[in-house]
Amino acid sequence: MTRWKKMTLTGWGRSHVASVEAARPERPRDLDEAMADTASGTLIAHGAGRAYGDSALNTNGRVVLTERLDRVLGFDAATGLVICEPGVTFANLMEIFLPRGFMPAASPGTSFATVGGALAADVHGKNHDRHGGFGDHVEWFDLLLADGTTRRVDAQNDAELFAATIGGMGLTGIVRAVAFRLLPNASPWVRVKERRIRDLDEYIEAFATIRDRSTFSVGWIDAVATGAALGRGILETAEFEAHDTLPKPRNPHRVPFDFPGFALNHFTVKAFNAQHYRRVPQTGRERRKSFAEFLYPLDALHGWNRIYGKRGFYQFQCVLPDAGARAGLRRLLEAISEAGNPSFLAVLKTLGRSGRGHLSFPMRGFTLALDFPRINGADGLLRRLEAITLDHQGRIYLAKDSLLTREGFRAMYPLLPRFERVLAKVDPASRLMSDQARRLGLKGAP
Ligand SMILES: Cc1cc2nc3c(=O)[nH]c(=O)nc-3n(C[C@H](O)[C@H](O)[C@H](O)COP(=O)(O)OP(=O)(O)OC[C@H]3O[C@@H](n4cnc5c(N)ncnc54)[C@H](O)[C@@H]3O)c2cc1C
Repeated sequence: MTRWKKMTLTGWGRSHVASVEAARPERPRDLDEAMADTASGTLIAHGAGRAYGDSALNTNGRVVLTERLDRVLGFDAATGLVICEPGVTFANLMEIFLPRGFMPAASPGTSFATVGGALAADVHGKNHDRHGGFGDHVEWFDLLLADGTTRRVDAQNDAELFAATIGGMGLTGIVRAVAFRLLPNASPWVRVKERRIRDLDEYIEAFATIRDRSTFSVGWIDAVATGAALGRGILETAEFEAHDTLPKPRNPHRVPFDFPGFALNHFTVKAFNAQHYRRVPQTGRERRKSFAEFLYPLDALHGWNRIYGKRGFYQFQCVLPDAGARAGLRRLLEAISEAGNPSFLAVLKTLGRSGRGHLSFPMRGFTLALDFPRINGADGLLRRLEAITLDHQGRIYLAKDSLLTREGFRAMYPLLPRFERVLAKVDPASRLMSDQARRLGLKGAP
């Protein structure tokens, strides 16, 4: 019998807190039991809880924790096809496959995320121009539907359910196995080039050149810089490098307590950013790094979300199409520096093409992601950033979202009507439900 336990869960930003009943199945067949038990109404899958907002929460409902469903079920070295349970993490994949020269084609910026969470958010990495998003490499998945049946779904035979589930934030069912292709010729080492970027214009030009030439690229932006320095930062590009040793395992530190709310303020962040900008010499620099250190810099500090204190923080991430990106990014950065909400984690990347899902986030353009402490005025700032994103035909990423409005959501995701048609077919009683789905008015939420 499935054991349900009352607990409190939060998203990674700790801005949303939910009282739920949770089960932690050990085997895929336990999922059937959890789904069959209709006593308490709604439920949603929860991977590693690395989505920032409320997409893996279900207040006063049920949550199925997939972390123990973490077996790799098969691998074909000739094709790179791997089959695994949804709770397998990117750290697991890297540990097993990188020494053999294979890597996940799209990996988010944390190795703690699970494969189920990656499929549900159609995640992208620092190589989207070159290799696309996670969903681009999925061959099929087994999906446990609200009626208790499991369906093997692929893009040829079940195109609409496939497209609704890739990027569908867990609302079509619970993914119980995924088959996706790993890329060959990967190495545990990369050669990283870093250079200072003076301002936003230089950023746009630099990305225009390197996005087709470099395998990996990512920019850090000093989000408190203003005037002529608006948009300044450090651009990193990376290529695999062969080397005859393996990197030493990382030795992560842990944030031991919630920082007091005042620790992050305009002055501390300004000082940190100025120093961070200058750490790279004016002439740039080049270093060998472990692939993991390059892909997952924040994983070196466990529980870093506690730095923002008990009230937590919001993450804002949008993508703007190439055409309006320069003007749109300028307006976003101006609004951010005017608001005076100190953000020290601001990242700029390019995305190469649209994803395969109805609600896939990627489109060809520039994506900006920032963390904001949840202080007075933060909600208003996020509303302004939503409006600017809409003005420039952009969209907000559901895996990072905490406050997106229903109207904004509908305008940003033009394939939403198709997504909703699939939901009406596979889950007419809205058993799969999250706080985010309620907030966005999905599934008939009032
Ligand atoms: C430090 C950090 C860096 C990040 N960097 C990036 C990045 O570079 N690119 C990017 O795209 N994202 C990034 N993310 C976001 C993260 O990759 C996504 O939120 C991802 O979905 C998290 O996976 P998870 O296993 O933690 O899922 P959760 O947060 O637990 O859940 C996220 C969604 O997936 C659904 N889900 C989980 N498991 C299943 C399942 N088995 N079946 C159906 N639905 C399921 C949930 O219902 C929920 O809607 C980052 C997050 C952090 C914390």
